[in-house]
Amino acid sequence: PQPNPEAGAAVKAADRAHVFHSWSAQELIDPLAVAGAEGSYFWDYDGRRYLDFTSGLVYTNIGYQHPKVVAAIQEQAARMTTFAPAFAVEARSEAARLIAERTPGDLDKIFFTNGGADAVEHALRMARLHTGRPKVLSAYRSYHGGTQQAVNVTGDPRRWASDSATAGVVHFWAPFLYRSRFYAETEEQECARALEHLETTIAFEGPSTVAAIILETIPGTAGVMPPPPGYLAGVRALCDKYGIVLVLDEVMAGFGRTGTWFAADLYDVVPDLMTFAKGVNSGYVPLGGVAISAEIAATFATRAYPGGLTYSGHPLACAAAVATINVMEEEGLVGNAASLGTSVVGPGLRELAERHPSVGEVRGTGMFWALELVRDRETREPLVPYNASGEANAPMAAFAAAAKKAGLWPFVNMNRTHVVPPLNTGEAELKEGLAALDAALSVADEHVR
Ligand code: PLP
Repeated sequence: PQPNPEAGAAVKAADRAHVFHSWSAQELIDPLAVAGAEGSYFWDYDGRRYLDFTSGLVYTNIGYQHPKVVAAIQEQAARMTTFAPAFAVEARSEAARLIAERTPGDLDKIFFTNGGADAVEHALRMARLHTGRPKVLSAYRSYHGGTQQAVNVTGDPRRWASDSATAGVVHFWAPFLYRSRFYAETEEQECARALEHLETTIAFEGPSTVAAIILETIPGTAGVMPPPPGYLAGVRALCDKYGIVLVLDEVMAGFGRTGTWFAADLYDVVPDLMTFAKGVNSGYVPLGGVAISAEIAATFATRAYPGGLTYSGHPLACAAAVATINVMEEEGLVGNAASLGTSVVGPGLRELAERHPSVGEVRGTGMFWALELVRDRETREPLVPYNASGEANAPMAAFAAAAKKAGLWPFVNMNRTHVVPPLNTGEAELKEGLAALDAALSVADEHVR
């Protein structure tokens, strides 16, 4: 990349003058002006290059600027850039077929949305209409999107500002052995007690009032916490027992991230509704959706579904999905995520944990990993307090700055760093990223008691 600082300065100036950024105090942020991106790297206007261990926001599963997907978008734009949702259109039909062929069980009908949050909105609306019940149960330590109902079911501080409209949402604790709410010491105890807690929550809320339980199959932003064996099957059984719709949110975990097409495949669980977005087309054009079971689809066979979007199944986005799924098949990217996760990322992170006292736990699978950073391995006190900002968050800010200095763009959330690179990141690149993490963890270690 050729440096062009003047161009970068102009991009930055217009951004600072006019772009209102997500989730941010507008005057306290300093967005990097990005000049270009390819594969697992991006670069700024000063010619500094970063290895992207974030996949954007965990969505560029095939990396940036994959030539086959860029070409497919160009071809679709030349042929039919857009068309209204009530028509049958080739790119939309083909995307729905390719997705339905990969989603678990009988999730064979696809309702397309523009992204993940509106997929969650529609999944919950479908569940309420299907059951005729008002409430939704969701987990603390979760993220389901930024629109009203999606942020209401979210279990992190981003929902607090929108809590006035939480009617109908009840949060429960899902399993997380490292910070167990159930005084559990083993996965078996955590699983059994989390299921008992969920069933008690259903009983006290009134089973006949609960339309849906929504869970991220593997919670992502909240910390990449693979559930213990048996938990999701147990939730499935509770849903069957009480007539509750099981919604699995695979917006982040889906489309190969876990080394399987969907995280649900790892646990042999079939939900009634599954939400997706991000990896479906690597986010090249905004797209999300809900995969719908035969039983719920039947509810809307002769009764209109009261919901829709101007851009539902946008041809450009759907053409990108078709090309992305085909590229993932041709290049074996799902298997690649599984094998490099097992042979390079997992062992590499565990080796870092052995040498760095700031690493409390390593968790993950495929290309979906988290390091829990702590001040004290014994007490598990987080490196920074929950939801810290400003000075209280300084240790994590120093960790992130050290990673960037070493050429790695890290995913940082609260006291964690997640390792979520594109699924086609090569072994040498992964090792380069692990070496940068090594340097950054030495900075985190300075804050260990
Ligand atoms: N659900 C999960 C599990 C997510 O991780 C996200 C985004 O990170 C969303 C929903 C919201 O998706 P979007 O930002 O496309 O609305």
